[in-house]
Amino acid sequence: MTAISAIDVNKHYGDFAALDNVSIEIPDGSLTALLGPSGSGKSTLLRVISGLEVPDTGRVLIAGEDVTALTPQKRGIGFVFQHYAAFKHMTVRDNVAFGLKIRKRPKAEISARVDELLEIVGLAGFQRRYPSQLSGGQRQRMALARALAVEPKVLLLDEPFGALDAKVREDLRTWLRRLHDEVHVTTVLVTHDQEEAMDVADRIAVLNAGRIEQIGSPRELYEEPANDFVMSFLGPVA
Ligand code: ADP
Ligand code: MG
Repeated sequence: MTAISAIDVNKHYGDFAALDNVSIEIPDGSLTALLGPSGSGKSTLLRVISGLEVPDTGRVLIAGEDVTALTPQKRGIGFVFQHYAAFKHMTVRDNVAFGLKIRKRPKAEISARVDELLEIVGLAGFQRRYPSQLSGGQRQRMALARALAVEPKVLLLDEPFGALDAKVREDLRTWLRRLHDEVHVTTVLVTHDQEEAMDVADRIAVLNAGRIEQIGSPRELYEEPANDFVMSFLGPVA
């Protein structure tokens, strides 16, 4: 099953093609990385999938439904950005519960779901803290739990670890992998970090200048790069 399809997507800013006839199919339950240098169109593709950006031409399907004309709120997506805006005056627990509360879910259901997610992201003991009392890495783990609370069809992550230092980023990769293995939600991770993509994703789409150069498993890309760009961008993996 295909969770997300982008079909013949074009997005121009003036004469500049940010996305040049991009098509991609993202399998159900996969953790797919959109990997490429700065300016290659990764965020634009993610924003088109989410509905934050309207493509000039092309279509987006989520779980088989054509969502091209739908607002982001109607697409069933969870989103985490590099700079996550937590509600500062709410506890960790209330931040994660927020989306469920506005959907008026039963209290017992909210409580069970929040407990489960905070456990998975290693924040079970931090429920009553406020975001300012968390480290940067803990805050992004809270953001992941919050995005997943409402059981989105797909989870979209745009450089979620980008602002953090190397050790914390590595740690977060492990958390993301664990979370994905537990919750099985189809996840798309935007990153410019080859090592991060190779380490965490089961499929990687390599972008360059608004085009997809190759899509495959980390191993396929490493062993059979489609062209010089992919080879040089992936570089020698240590
Ligand atoms: P990436 O996430 O891979 O770094 P982006 O998708 O953000 O790249 O951007 C791709 C290209 O499109 C960049 O050259 C960027 O400057 C350009 N771009 C993105 N958004 C806009 C915009 N709103 N207006 C003009 N140019 C944009
Ligand atoms: Mg970007």
